[in-house]
Amino acid sequence: MSEKKIPYKIYLEENEMPTQWYNVRADMKNKPAPLLNPATLKPMTAEELGHVFCDELVKQELDDTNPYIDIPQEIRDFYRMYRPSPLVRAYCLEKKLGTPAKIYYKFEGNNTSGSHKLNSAIAQAYYAKKQGLKGVTTETGAGQWGTALSMACAYFDLDCKVYMVKVSYEQKPFRREVMRTYGASVTPSPSETTEVGRKILAEHPGTTGSLGCAISEAVEAATTREGYRYVLGSVLNQVLLHQSVIGLETKAALEKYDITPDIIIGCAGGGSNLGGLISPFMGEKLRGEKDYQFIAVEPASCPSLTRGRYAYDFCDTGRVCPLAKMYTLGSGFIPSANHAGGLRYHGMSSTLSQLYDDGLMEARSVEQTSVFEAAEQFARIEGILPAPESSHAIRVAIDEALKCKETGEEKTIVFGLTGTGYFDMVAYEKFNNGEMTDYIPTDEELAVGFAGLPKVE
Ligand SMILES: *Cc1c(COP(=O)(O)O)cnc(C)c1O
Repeated sequence: MSEKKIPYKIYLEENEMPTQWYNVRADMKNKPAPLLNPATLKPMTAEELGHVFCDELVKQELDDTNPYIDIPQEIRDFYRMYRPSPLVRAYCLEKKLGTPAKIYYKFEGNNTSGSHKLNSAIAQAYYAKKQGLKGVTTETGAGQWGTALSMACAYFDLDCKVYMVKVSYEQKPFRREVMRTYGASVTPSPSETTEVGRKILAEHPGTTGSLGCAISEAVEAATTREGYRYVLGSVLNQVLLHQSVIGLETKAALEKYDITPDIIIGCAGGGSNLGGLISPFMGEKLRGEKDYQFIAVEPASCPSLTRGRYAYDFCDTGRVCPLAKMYTLGSGFIPSANHAGGLRYHGMSSTLSQLYDDGLMEARSVEQTSVFEAAEQFARIEGILPAPESSHAIRVAIDEALKCKETGEEKTIVFGLTGTGYFDMVAYEKFNNGEMTDYIPTDEELAVGFAGLPKVE
């Protein structure tokens, strides 16, 4: 039997793009734990969530039963501007490594925001517009999410207020200017513009901020303004749902050539790209149709899955958000300065946390220097300059391919290449100068974060 020659890039036709998102929760026996009201410790109702989030997004957040949810035509039109994204066969990397493994990556960096985050940004902006809102607020760390949301809001003519972690605001002026070019207003966080910001500044004068602080400020900015809601770029169920477009396209592309992956790998910050990539494959595993090995990769400096606790925790520093049950290092945990800014969140998606706790997914932590070694190797041989976040997945994909070289196994490895690294050249500079360090927290340091977990039965 002759095999079809697999091209370097498998592109779907536009009419082969998914018309529905896949909701993996529908196939999970153990559902992710509900968000809790921090005051009553009761599950958040749709009405309570509706004060913070758009109504349609609340519905998606709480939907544990419908496996497929239609992607509105307006969102599909926008997706068509930069999707379908290619599934690339890493022939060059395979040859360089001398591995019998077959390596594929789904490349999500082909849009101005430079990452997969646009897949959810456009959906969230659409539902805000449909609800007749004036605008949305959000936080951004390294800036990828803020950029994506600015683009989406510009498209639907919505106001966009971004609270940007102060250290990034100062160190990543270009990201900031991209957001402003798309019409967003960008405020360094913590700021004097919110009550919670003023409180944090009073307690920690001179702080350069954190994602947790910026979330608190963005939520306050939304809930104290008429016609505004808060939107979040990761962690939430709804975001994983939107990102399932990555996995659905990947699956359709693989099926065109009768390829079945053995291992699927993704980097994990809040879990949205990984959750989106693996969802349709995980669905098959949950339904007992097929088996795959799934690997979440996180930085050793912020190891929520590999060293965290599975517990209810605050999602933000100001403790204004609902409690989520997740693998967490504690909302007070401050990771050391890490160049993969998008992976520094203290917690992890509730959906992925449950799948991990049920033994359906593995996790690995990797050190920064070895991540950048993989990034550089990849850039030189595959041409794409990867984002530091994405390079965590590259690291483990290369490690697995090298294992195959030793055993002679011809495994098929698929990983998510979530974005490009053009705005991360300060990190690359550190690596090139041999000045990159990695700080791995001690057990004692992690214990401080765990001590701050709320007591929930
Ligand atoms: C934000 C980001 C991530 C991590 O976020 P997830 O929600 O875990 O996917 C990974 N890669 C890039 C390029 C990002 O911008």
